[in-house]
Amino acid sequence: MSVTGGCQCGAVRYRAESLGRASICHCRMCQKAFGSFFGPLVAARGLVWTRGEPARFASSNKVERGFCAGCGTPLTYDYGGDAVEVAIGTLDEPGRAAPVIQLNPADKLPFYDTLHALPWREANPSSEAFLSSVASNQHPDHDTNRWPPEALK
Ligand SMILES: [Zn+2]
Repeated sequence: MSVTGGCQCGAVRYRAESLGRASICHCRMCQKAFGSFFGPLVAARGLVWTRGEPARFASSNKVERGFCAGCGTPLTYDYGGDAVEVAIGTLDEPGRAAPVIQLNPADKLPFYDTLHALPWREANPSSEAFLSSVASNQHPDHDTNRWPPEALK
């Protein structure tokens, strides 16, 4: 079953034949590239670009990282191996890529192990009002024939 995904603005979309190993990488380079606590990546076999293409940055002599030049979404990690890896959050169905391994524990952030135990913010009238007033400009989680729609131009 093929998988699809893309960046938040919709300028770059991809399709892959299947997914391979999913991982989270704690290395400092992934933290910086994703602007996050770790890099969530999954091997994408048979990856093709169905709309646009990512810009690329050689984050080292070994790896090129692809991202949308229009909206900045991190998209790919390419180390020249069998399959380019894609950022799990860019999949239309990220729940299909459950990580099975963690990489580079030496750079793991000190608070990472306790994140799951953080308290949840209580729902309140102002947060609910804010959420209900949000009108997303992000591309939807499926392919579209035309993008952006007229309303966003
Ligand atoms: Zn984009």
